[in-house]
Amino acid sequence: MTEAPESTDIAIIGAGIVGIAVAYYLVVDHGLTNIVLVDAGDPMGMTSAQSGENYRNWWPHPVMTAFTDHATDLLEQIARASDNRIHMTRRGYALATRRAAPEDLIQELQGGYGDAAAGRIRFHESAGAGYQPATSSEWTAAPDGVDVLLDRALIQTHFPSLAPKVATILHIRRAGDMSGQQLGQFMLEAIRAAGGKVRRAAVTGIDRGTAFTLALDGGTSNLRADRVVNAAGPFFAQVAAMLGETLPVTCVFQQKISFEDREGAIPRSLPFTIDLDELELPWTEDERAELAADPAGATLLQPMPGGIHRRPDGGDGGRWIKLGWAYNTTPSDPGAAEPPIDPYFPDVLLRAASRLSPALSAYIGRLPRGARHYGGYYAMTPENWPLIGRMQTPGAFMAGALSGFGTMSATAAGAICAAAVAGVVLPGYATGFGLGRYDDPVMVAALRGQASRSKL
Ligand SMILES: Cc1cc2nc3c(=O)[nH]c(=O)nc-3n(C[C@H](O)[C@H](O)[C@H](O)COP(=O)(O)OP(=O)(O)OC[C@H]3O[C@@H](n4cnc5c(N)ncnc54)[C@H](O)[C@@H]3O)c2cc1C
Repeated sequence: MTEAPESTDIAIIGAGIVGIAVAYYLVVDHGLTNIVLVDAGDPMGMTSAQSGENYRNWWPHPVMTAFTDHATDLLEQIARASDNRIHMTRRGYALATRRAAPEDLIQELQGGYGDAAAGRIRFHESAGAGYQPATSSEWTAAPDGVDVLLDRALIQTHFPSLAPKVATILHIRRAGDMSGQQLGQFMLEAIRAAGGKVRRAAVTGIDRGTAFTLALDGGTSNLRADRVVNAAGPFFAQVAAMLGETLPVTCVFQQKISFEDREGAIPRSLPFTIDLDELELPWTEDERAELAADPAGATLLQPMPGGIHRRPDGGDGGRWIKLGWAYNTTPSDPGAAEPPIDPYFPDVLLRAASRLSPALSAYIGRLPRGARHYGGYYAMTPENWPLIGRMQTPGAFMAGALSGFGTMSATAAGAICAAAVAGVVLPGYATGFGLGRYDDPVMVAALRGQASRSKL
């Protein structure tokens, strides 16, 4: 007698932070508990393990601002309910430029906050003009909105570690960091307590009959499901292809470094701080010759985009720091045997980062022992908006293409996708995340043409 295949109401493919959040909101918002999260590896073990774990509500478009505000509301609910088990902090994002009164950035800020912009943006043109620095990491203690610091002396008073050339800082106040791993664990406990399961297996094919039949591990077993959710992170497009669908998503490898800041180059109270200005790296003649001879190095001789970021890691009493720079724009195959780790990256990043934080130059060519150089894939649409909601196949749903913002937005992505599965009305902003947006090529072209798609 052949054994009946395992079956479930809802199979979620992928137990990264996004698949877990979908399951969590199916349980807590809709009471749907007959769920199996299927993952080829450990839950939270792929991209979600590489996240910088930062969050912000600063975006060039009000739809993304609404999305991350919703996500942050939900994160704050969890922080409140769990005695802040997710280690949420809120020192903000400090966006620094050497440009005085950069109109384009201010307009982008106003565009991103939409109708609420006037009440959310405060300008400070001199010392003593009411700017409240981030004296505490407490997420409950920080103001909302954005402080725009337009005076060099004011900036040096509050950000003495930054280069004196900085003329403007946009301090985004609803921003900070948290533990994505703790968030995932918190949600997994609730899912399991409600009867949801995690199944370790690779989904290698999907058949659609009266229900879905997922082939596991090359067909050694099957899982039947009435509904499926694609939350496969870097393999989002591949899982869609198993359903015969094409999604406009590519994967771009991005890297970070972290190390013990023995020199105290980054004050523990520094917000997540980003150098927005593009730059040409100052190479010596010998270095130029060496880079020019290497196809992977030659691009480093060209002008490079801004977006170099740094922050203290491990709380006020910690000593580690994290730095990153998402300058890579070349898609690659997440299924390749080896990730495309760039050996030049730590050195390039430290040279670039020490322009804004000069004390970091102590580490160029001398990273402390134990330093980590790591990375993962940003699964992205060309417009850098996620895809969340129904797929074309009836009964199939998706939550993916969360690029460099999936940790901060997993709660809202999970809540929206769970609502779609449960057949409940979605929040208004979420219609932009469905496949229907491609029926409006004018809007999509406008999004793709934005000067900033906020890729950090
Ligand atoms: C270097 C770096 C820094 C980042 N920093 C931040 C940050 O500061 N803030 C932020 O908000 N976001 C950040 N991100 C983005 C964030 O990490 C991702 O958006 C998020 O982790 C994506 O989660 P996910 O669940 O979609 O994907 P993943 O975590 O990759 O999970 C997908 C899961 O699907 C499984 N899977 C795939 N295919 C199959 C299959 N066929 N069968 C079974 N299982 C399958 C995989 O094993 C994996 O566990 C960063 C990303 C990187 C790479």
